Amino acid sequence: MYDKAQIQALQQTTKQFLATPLSIDLTTLKKVLQFHEYQYYVVNESLISDYEYDQLYQALLAIEASDPSCITPDSPSQRVGNSLNSNFETVPHLVPMLSLENSYNAEDLIDFDRKARESANLDAITYCVEPKFDGASISLIYENDLLIRACTRGDGVEGEDITNNIKQIRSIPLQIPLAANGIQQIEIRGEVIMTKKAFDDFNEKLKSKNQSPLANPRNAASGSLRMKDPKEVAERNLDAFIYHVSYILPIPGKTVNPLLKTHGGSLDFLWNMGFRSPQKEKQVVTKMQDVIDYCAIAATGRDELPYEIDGLVVKVNDLALQEKLGMTSHHPRWAIAYKFKARQATTVLEHVEFQVGRTGAVTPVAKLKPVAIGGVTVSSISIHNEEYIIEKDLLLGDTVIIERAGDVIPQIVHSIASLRTGNEKKIQFPTHCPVCATALVKESTEAVWRCTNINCSAQIVERIAHFVSKDAMDIKNLGEANIKKFFELGLLKAIPGIYTLDFEKIGQLEGFGQKSVDNLTSSIEVSKQQPLHRLIYALGIRFVGETTAKTIASRINHLLDLTRITEEQLLEFEDIGVKVASSIVQFFHDPNQLNMIESLMQLGLNVEQTTHQATDGSLTGLNFLFTGTLTQLKRSDAEAMVEAKGGHILSGVSSKLNYLIVGEDAGSKLEKAKKIASIKIMTEAEFIDLVNSDSTS
Ligand SMILES: [Zn+2]
Repeated sequence: MYDKAQIQALQQTTKQFLATPLSIDLTTLKKVLQFHEYQYYVVNESLISDYEYDQLYQALLAIEASDPSCITPDSPSQRVGNSLNSNFETVPHLVPMLSLENSYNAEDLIDFDRKARESANLDAITYCVEPKFDGASISLIYENDLLIRACTRGDGVEGEDITNNIKQIRSIPLQIPLAANGIQQIEIRGEVIMTKKAFDDFNEKLKSKNQSPLANPRNAASGSLRMKDPKEVAERNLDAFIYHVSYILPIPGKTVNPLLKTHGGSLDFLWNMGFRSPQKEKQVVTKMQDVIDYCAIAATGRDELPYEIDGLVVKVNDLALQEKLGMTSHHPRWAIAYKFKARQATTVLEHVEFQVGRTGAVTPVAKLKPVAIGGVTVSSISIHNEEYIIEKDLLLGDTVIIERAGDVIPQIVHSIASLRTGNEKKIQFPTHCPVCATALVKESTEAVWRCTNINCSAQIVERIAHFVSKDAMDIKNLGEANIKKFFELGLLKAIPGIYTLDFEKIGQLEGFGQKSVDNLTSSIEVSKQQPLHRLIYALGIRFVGETTAKTIASRINHLLDLTRITEEQLLEFEDIGVKVASSIVQFFHDPNQLNMIESLMQLGLNVEQTTHQATDGSLTGLNFLFTGTLTQLKRSDAEAMVEAKGGHILSGVSSKLNYLIVGEDAGSKLEKAKKIASIKIMTEAEFIDLVNSDSTS
């Protein structure tokens, strides 16, 4: 979209505007902001900090506030909806949005190819294959370079006008250079999606507000399109892939960009216009066998993608040939969807168990008739809380649709009320703890019922299980089953008891040979030296997850520093809010917890922040990223090596990156990094050399 010279010029203007705000002129400022939006949301390669972007954005708002007549529809400020959508008007598509025929195996594809070749009277046809994004379809119209309308798919003939909501999606430009390409009006199609990361983050947010999580990224995306308040849409961090040009009105006497003669070319065209099109993901192939091979590769690789796809779309590449092939009454004859195996299934909700967590929260867990989805058998799914049960309309004995999206935890999508026989029963929530019989309490601000007895055996077992878990102290040979067993036998009563276990008695238990006792002993012993952030996380302080634990550990020298820290001091730490700060202070003033910490210290656990002292700092200020499969090191070990020397791990390629370490089968990150001259690309072996040479120097 932007060439090198343009990028350099825009960067220079950016710097100039930041240094001398008085030199800002409105027209150029809009261009600069549009450029940085593109870099951030489409290319994923930010060239300025969020703070710098915000300064320029505020400058724009100030100029526009002083003279509202200068606000143009393509101004970056116009993304922020300031009015609610009252209702959504129904509008016609310029060209109907047809659904594609589905195929599920190689035979279907071969059949499709044979029919297409016969009807075109050709020996071979070139196809363009691209991911089938699992989101919500949209259609956009741009006229005289401006986005004038966005609508839902609707019934394919008419959709709903959702322009205000679509403007919240930053990877959709408000203005594109159409006139320069000979086009007056264009209708394009695409899919609004939520990345897996955005989906997880959003669900985390819902959970922290005691709201029920959403079932899958697709529902989250499609539900967003028709929201009344555009600000809520903005909060969901939606993204959009644009992959189809359905209509073009040329400017009389001008030549339309020749890229628009093939489907693959139109993906390039859309990319050049500033859209996120599957330009890099597409494959243009001349044999159906290549399509079939690509389908097989994509089916196994789908979990690696940052977003959900549910198949591939195969289109005849030549647009003139598409026209010639035409359509049946239902489907175009020039395209077919190849669908991956479904990850949804129906099963029966047989009964509900109530589990008590380490904070006393009582969670209903649906026990299902076991069913296989995407290679995994699912027999139990958390159904969170009472409100969730009401919202999903769940009854005992119901047939339910469940879904497992990628590496996301399976969820119940909804019950199928039409299959009810009348024998279904209401799910009864207990009034007392199913383990210790204490009356359950529900605070008005919360959705969950809690057992408030801190000596509740279920809570103790869960707290110990959390303490030893993989991301906490990582005591490998002490699983939940063993913890329960030791607890019931009176061998383990609380967390410090892990370090005073009577191994002689354990050795006499059934199933415990000398070897397993030795393994257990050594993994317990090793855990004493775990870094401080793991211990902080392991303590199970409410609202303190792994990231927060790392932040806290990096700002203190000794665990006991936290007994003297104030909420105000904690609020200065990155990403720590009032709720978290108050929970931390409360924890470190609780005599029971202080006693436990005292015991753990006496037992010899590491309570000091050693990493930042031990850092030799040879990589301080340098940013690293690993891509592809490493053959000699585990990814997590390699990252730890960087961090131990003061370096940082970035999550994506940007101009801030100093080193990209490339393993086998590296993909798009490598391609991206090659375009930024300042990034040094090295092999795993070179990386090991770099780290080792530094430690000897
Ligand atoms: Zn209890």
